[in-house]
Amino acid sequence: MMIKENILKIKEELPSAVKLVAVSKFHPVSELMEAYEAGQRRFGENRPQEFAEKVPRLPSDVEWHFIGHLQTNKLKLVLPYAYMVQSVDSLHLLQSVEAWLTANPVRKEPLRVLLEMHLGAEETKHGMSEEEICGILSEASNYPHVSFCGLMGMATNTDDQERIRSDFRRIASFREKVAVTYPDLPLNELSIGMSNDWRIAVGCGATIVRIGTAIFGPREY
Ligand SMILES: *Cc1c(COP(=O)(O)O)cnc(C)c1O
Repeated sequence: MMIKENILKIKEELPSAVKLVAVSKFHPVSELMEAYEAGQRRFGENRPQEFAEKVPRLPSDVEWHFIGHLQTNKLKLVLPYAYMVQSVDSLHLLQSVEAWLTANPVRKEPLRVLLEMHLGAEETKHGMSEEEICGILSEASNYPHVSFCGLMGMATNTDDQERIRSDFRRIASFREKVAVTYPDLPLNELSIGMSNDWRIAVGCGATIVRIGTAIFGPREY
């Protein structure tokens, strides 16, 4: 297994201020443990059931990031354990998260979330428009159980580096804009960049990269 080598190689190149989330979806706990033993502490999963099954099987100092589409009937599998939910992709989900956390006071501190912005050319991708995100942030006080930490996005799935760069620049400048508009919110995080485009993302100001394949190898679906 090359997991340790892959992590060390990425860490060598990644500026130390940028946080690496190892995207471990579809990979067995034994491989996550290999990453853990190489020093990796942040893991990302995108399916609630798999997330909830893995959490108790790793040491408790792991920081778990949920990065997938979250249906409102699956909140109990994710919200008690997540360090951060990076993929809040609708007003409806946000309202459901706030209501669930109000009814289930299982956390000591507010849940960190990133608002997912629709970036890529693909209609099928999840995420919100700039208008929807501004609407939410202007009413942030409606969500006392949530801490708005920044934005997440996925670039167009393409080999065209300029297209990817322009997607990332758009979300980066939008994050700067909302951080100025809402100075009371801690909108510091910009989660962009995956295995194939994380270097571009770092150049565009990523504070978090989400890397799966380049650490664990291809997924078997
Ligand atoms: C799977 C996934 C990743 C990691 O993708 P790789 O190309 O394997 O690095 C990153 N972000 C999200 C939201 C994902 O679903």
